[in-house]
Amino acid sequence: MTAQAASDLPIPGPRRAWWLREALAAEQPSLLAPSLFGDEVADVAIVGGGYTGMWTAYFLGEMAPDARIVLLEGDICGGGPSGRNGGFLHGWWENLPYLVRRFGPGQGLRIAQAADEVVDGIGSWCEQHGVDAKFTRRGYLRVNAFPKVANDWAGSIISLERLGAPGQLVHLDQEAVRAICASPAFGEGVMMPSAATVQPAMLARGLRRVLLERGVSIHEGTAVTRLNPVPTGVRLTTARGSVSAARAVLAVNAWAAGWPGFRTRMLAWGSYMVVTEPIPDLLAALGWTGGEAISDSRFTISYFRTTQDGRIAFGAGVGNAGYDGRIGPVFTHDRRAIERVVANFRHLLPTLAGVRFDDAWGGPIDITADRFPVIGSQHGGRVLYAHGFAGNGVGPARLAGRLLATRLAGRRDSMALPLFERRQRILPPEPFRYFGARAIREALIRLDDDLDAGRRPGLLTRIVAQVPSLLGYQFRH
Ligand SMILES: Cc1cc2nc3c(=O)[nH]c(=O)nc-3n(C[C@H](O)[C@H](O)[C@H](O)COP(=O)(O)OP(=O)(O)OC[C@H]3O[C@@H](n4cnc5c(N)ncnc54)[C@H](O)[C@@H]3O)c2cc1C
Repeated sequence: MTAQAASDLPIPGPRRAWWLREALAAEQPSLLAPSLFGDEVADVAIVGGGYTGMWTAYFLGEMAPDARIVLLEGDICGGGPSGRNGGFLHGWWENLPYLVRRFGPGQGLRIAQAADEVVDGIGSWCEQHGVDAKFTRRGYLRVNAFPKVANDWAGSIISLERLGAPGQLVHLDQEAVRAICASPAFGEGVMMPSAATVQPAMLARGLRRVLLERGVSIHEGTAVTRLNPVPTGVRLTTARGSVSAARAVLAVNAWAAGWPGFRTRMLAWGSYMVVTEPIPDLLAALGWTGGEAISDSRFTISYFRTTQDGRIAFGAGVGNAGYDGRIGPVFTHDRRAIERVVANFRHLLPTLAGVRFDDAWGGPIDITADRFPVIGSQHGGRVLYAHGFAGNGVGPARLAGRLLATRLAGRRDSMALPLFERRQRILPPEPFRYFGARAIREALIRLDDDLDAGRRPGLLTRIVAQVPSLLGYQFRH
């Protein structure tokens, strides 16, 4: 098989991502929820129809069945990253050492345990509501594919054991790794057995269906252009109407980077994906038929998993940063990012170098200074928000939605997690943030390329790649 030429690769941007097209095709019928015309009154108005906004609406409906909930989505529900991500579903076990440093041993462990609920929680929620999100719980394997660099997997495992989470990461030697997926590029690895995968858009659209059945008033094609505190609560303005509500929730993910109050606290970064043609025989030849999710240990991480019709969906965080919170084509139309994703694919799965790619797409991920989400409030508690999930929001957005709903319903947080209003470092102002992020991205890519080739990275590359941690930012945990 000859490798698909760069000029023949699918172009990202002009159509909806493969996952979402599949999910929309399965809907009978797939109708746009009406845009907002005129003025509406609600108890709670939610901005954003991704996982965060929809889980908030779902849990609020459970806790306060009489609450009038309006959800406003600029596109369609699941049209953002919730409908086009990798579908890796896990909590925060890998973040436990960071959580312990940040919140102390007891609280850190409790947060990781609460986040672990999301995996089984989403699996059983799908079953309960007849949502066919292809939930597959077969674990998440991280492999080292650098020929001359050893990972400190043993250190991570010991640290989790010491912190009270034995068995959440399991070391696999090269033979055990290759028994899962026999790529000649893979060295040893570490398995997170509790992780699962989903078809992300099926989950998002399933949430939307359940909310509509429960009477949540959803308006798609309805971007909120202004949000003003008023004596009775909050007023949200859209192109052809408004919603007056006692409280509002901003669940806009990377788009928050353009909202007042968040501009200097978040960097939007592009992650891009491709999906191959169906290749069940080649997957069988690799022995990769168990449905495990896999990623490598690069700085610009590559993540890949199989689909139930025998394809590989493969992504990498190789896009660019946005400028000053603008979410534009840099996150969706970057053909060079797709070429790099494909190069990573061929490097990590060399026996599949000849397979064709059927689709390509990208989206923004939202990165805070410590690469951990923030959940908080503005305007005296009238506006709540949650964002900053970076590349791990499929699961944690459910936890955030439950915490937001608990707050909105005026209940005590039964888990009492210290995640609300945590102090957050600000990022450098523009244009330093943008140009700094670009320079660091180039250095990280060069670093990965050098380590892939077994070369020692140059001094300048190493220095630039270290800049975020030297400045106290935690872009890796
Ligand atoms: C390519 C890619 C791969 C990823 N892979 C994974 C993965 O494998 N596992 C994982 O855990 N995470 C992954 N992520 C991250 C994950 O997708 C997100 O963290 C998660 O979807 C966040 O959900 P959300 O509801 O907060 O945001 P979104 O899904 O982005 O929803 C926010 C919504 O707000 C809407 N909106 C924005 N502004 C307005 C406005 N003014 N008015 C009305 N609506 C507005 C947007 O249209 C959007 O639909 C990936 C992300 C990308 C881009």
